[in-house]
Amino acid sequence: MSTLIPAKTSSGQQVFILKEGSSETKGRDAQKNNIFAAKLIAEIVKSSLGPRGMDKMLVDSMGDVTITNDGATILKEIDVQHPAAKMVVEISKTTDNEVGDGTTSAVVLAGALLENAEELINKDVHPTTIVDGYLKAEDKALEILKEIAVKVKPEDRRTLEQVAETSMQTKLVSDLGKELASVVVEGLSLVAEKNEDGTSKVDIDNVKVEKKAGGSSSDTKLIKGIILDKEVVHPGMPKRIEAAKIALVLSPLEIEKTEFSAEIRINTPSQMKGFLDQENAMLSSMVEKIEASGANVVICQKGIDDVAQSLLAKKGILAVRRAKESDMTRLSKATGARTVTNLDDLSSRDLGFAKLVEERKIEQDKWVFIEGCKNPKAVTILVRGGSQRVVDEAERSLHDAIMVVKDVLEEPAIVAGGGAPEAEVASRLREYAAKLPGREQLAVLKFADSLESIPLTLAENAGMDIIDVQVELRAKHSQGKTWYGVNARSGKVGDMMEEKVIEPLAVKEEIIRAASEATSMVLRVDDILASGKSAAPAGPPPGGMGGMGGMGM
Ligand code: ADP
Ligand code: MG
Repeated sequence: MSTLIPAKTSSGQQVFILKEGSSETKGRDAQKNNIFAAKLIAEIVKSSLGPRGMDKMLVDSMGDVTITNDGATILKEIDVQHPAAKMVVEISKTTDNEVGDGTTSAVVLAGALLENAEELINKDVHPTTIVDGYLKAEDKALEILKEIAVKVKPEDRRTLEQVAETSMQTKLVSDLGKELASVVVEGLSLVAEKNEDGTSKVDIDNVKVEKKAGGSSSDTKLIKGIILDKEVVHPGMPKRIEAAKIALVLSPLEIEKTEFSAEIRINTPSQMKGFLDQENAMLSSMVEKIEASGANVVICQKGIDDVAQSLLAKKGILAVRRAKESDMTRLSKATGARTVTNLDDLSSRDLGFAKLVEERKIEQDKWVFIEGCKNPKAVTILVRGGSQRVVDEAERSLHDAIMVVKDVLEEPAIVAGGGAPEAEVASRLREYAAKLPGREQLAVLKFADSLESIPLTLAENAGMDIIDVQVELRAKHSQGKTWYGVNARSGKVGDMMEEKVIEPLAVKEEIIRAASEATSMVLRVDDILASGKSAAPAGPPPGGMGGMGGMGM
């Protein structure tokens, strides 16, 4: 920061070290301010939690509309300015990157933790004590989660599908969940690489989601290969090649223009012909090199000259030009082809293999499908749906589903959903708290209360009576009914494991970790120094939040 703290000299003279327009908020005011802003963020996403959660319609500064129910997406789209609010937005991003799901829950939990911390601060419990208590509670909570989690076998497709279904149930495409779940599980099982200890490693880059509005959502399917959103370059080329031998070329199949502008003076028609002949000879030699390698499909990252196109067409070779760099990499991984820059180096050993390469018409566009790849470790999910918004939201749900299946493949343990694990951990934390001396006990109890905010929010969004739910949940969990949670569909408290509403252990762990971390960060701040906006020469209103600009929504 460019500002410094104002001070008084020993003789009592005030020294201004802050730039004009800067402001400082200290102590309890600063804490209140931060907690308030962070809580507001949680309020925004709260109503979208769970299968009965509402969607948000977000309009950006360009007027583009997004309709979503995904916590991370909502927070990405809104333009938050307050620094403490930003910290909370950050956790939805980290959760999204780490485990892919649970972004709303993390923010809701952080909001509850802060709200409960505020109550303690009002009772003169020092924030450091709260932070310490929360840390103890976090450790214990993670320990309890591990204890109650159920180990699963990664080969158990049905369980993986149920995990995917649970994550998609809460989204727009909820009725489609079952079909999409099997697409996701099949795709990821192909891509997963087994470790010796039974877990797997999944590289998400090998699962590409392509979307195209049109058709019906149930047309969404798994392609065991790659789709290029390009067409075959020349009408005379074959549109379908079985047992494809694929060359991946990074250099242009064109005569490259000189870097500097050159002038060629041609005086006679024969000179002209000689010049063109030479060009054609060069192109023809390129095509011959491709043919000599045995390739019947060429994917080129750069352009292909018209003459080269028709020569390739004559030889029955299918060609695609200007493929994306990322697609070239994936094609290389999937088909086993080695990319070549210099055609002189191209040999049969560099070629990749696919059972079928075919141009297909998808709505108005022609796309090239490369299927049945030799190395099936790269797959594509083609998302279809009635409108752009539907496919956009389907894509977001698929992202969550792909990530939760990956989570379980990498850490094969699950818990039930519907707030059951949160209620169980809360109940056990209360027992744990009773054994703690001092004020930290209070913080641990508040942590337990905060965890209950997850089942209670699910209940609230499902239109259930939250007091009844709270009482019933506490009773069940004290009787050792670990998986009792809120069944948002039936509107009752029930055994969520039996309902097959299940989630990865990894997601629940990450929610608790991310929310506690953000909470501690916010609570530790007792001084906000904000430099004035450079555009606004006038100082901030006295005691106000200068450059913090409030919430920009
Ligand atoms: P997040 O961004 O946190 O994943 P979601 O809107 O996806 O938010 O909601 C996730 C929560 O919904 C989880 O706690 C999950 O257990 C719960 N959930 C999913 N399906 C059901 C269901 N049928 N009944 C009750 N809760 C459910
Ligand atoms: Mg979710």
